Amino acid sequence: MLIVKKFGGTSVADKERIFNVARRCIDEYSKGNDVVVVLSAMGKQTDVLLAQAKDINPNASKRELDMLLTTGEQTSVALMAMAMNSLGIPAISLNAFQVAMHTTAAYGNARLKRIDTDRIKNELANRKIVIVTGFQGINQFDDYTTLGRGGSDTTAVALAAALHADACEIYTDVDGVFTADPRVVKNARKLDAITYDEMLELASLGAGVLHNRSVEMAKKYGVQLVVRSSLNTTEGTVVKEVVNMEKMLVSGVACDKNTARIAVIGLEDQPGVAFKLFNHLANHNINVDIILQSVGRDGTKDISFTVAEDAADEAVEIINRHREGSLKCHEVDVEKNVAKVSVVGAGMMTNAGVAAKMFEALYDCGVNIKQISTSEIRVTVLIDEKYVDVSMNAVHDAFSLGK
Ligand code: ADP
Ligand code: ASP
Ligand code: MG
Repeated sequence: MLIVKKFGGTSVADKERIFNVARRCIDEYSKGNDVVVVLSAMGKQTDVLLAQAKDINPNASKRELDMLLTTGEQTSVALMAMAMNSLGIPAISLNAFQVAMHTTAAYGNARLKRIDTDRIKNELANRKIVIVTGFQGINQFDDYTTLGRGGSDTTAVALAAALHADACEIYTDVDGVFTADPRVVKNARKLDAITYDEMLELASLGAGVLHNRSVEMAKKYGVQLVVRSSLNTTEGTVVKEVVNMEKMLVSGVACDKNTARIAVIGLEDQPGVAFKLFNHLANHNINVDIILQSVGRDGTKDISFTVAEDAADEAVEIINRHREGSLKCHEVDVEKNVAKVSVVGAGMMTNAGVAAKMFEALYDCGVNIKQISTSEIRVTVLIDEKYVDVSMNAVHDAFSLGK
């Protein structure tokens, strides 16, 4: 069997944890399996590097940031190979260049395009454990790129797909995928299984346990994932196409504090305005989420939408740049202390009343809803960030998701 195992930052945070991971991988290898290990940077190293960069130059280019951030993963894979070697096991570390993991050009938010598998296959054929840097790639300029925060999960799934692995296991610091972030909702329950679609919604709506692109890719290539703890041997959560369980109405609640709301007030009420606004943002790779347009009055209308908080300043700057030209408007407002809270569940497709139940739970704890958006399998509300914890718990309780 060929098994891809990915370990996150907490799982390789120090010497003891590195040896813990080394031993787990060696156990698998000793059964005769081929083992490819994908690692994140140790502990909070990516945050440390970002802080260092900010201290030197708050406007550092995205290219140089990626050059810096990729060192985090390079450190952890080299140390892991050394740990395995010290235990008498042949292991080799490879970075994105050495494997050749090709991505799009976009520094900081690149997408994997193609992975060369020859080097990895050769090393496996020599009975080595192959340890690969997560989160990084190379672009057409032979520069390092990164895949966005949390992107090591995507590296693992992409490798599992490219190598036709028999299993892809994501090891982390919780026992699996829960009905809500167990650090926010104390009685959150671990799910035995969840569908790709539900997991994709949860991940996209802030459940950081899996990078959303990793789920997208797993669905596309049919890679079954297991999310489990690196610190114990509890069975984890399987992420797959169909879940043979009594279908739950709602499978989870997620929140995303990395959210800002931008309101563009007094736009001209005529064709093409929304296109121009969102096209300018798309041209700068800014993702837009919940969009709300007001009813027109006196020839003007307002459009408000959410973006990731760290993209808000750039978004406003882009809009302001066009206010004299294609985007005439009265005012551009930004609100950064907002958050999204969402309920997700395949069961709600056939069941009315999920939204009402969620709104009632928020009403009962006095939380005002600023904006709403829905899809077939989710309801999302925008609220004041300070009410996130109370809202998450209230909504989780309202759907009886707890233990
Ligand atoms: P890693 O470094 O292993 O990639 P992450 O911090 O990226 O770990 O992801 C694991 C964290 O995701 C958990 O510690 C937990 O706080 C958070 N999380 C958010 N939503 C969920 C959820 N629904 N189920 C499990 N964990 C969640
Ligand atoms: N080290 C990167 C991060 O902190 C990638 C990852 O952990 O998946 O975002
Ligand atoms: Mg992660």
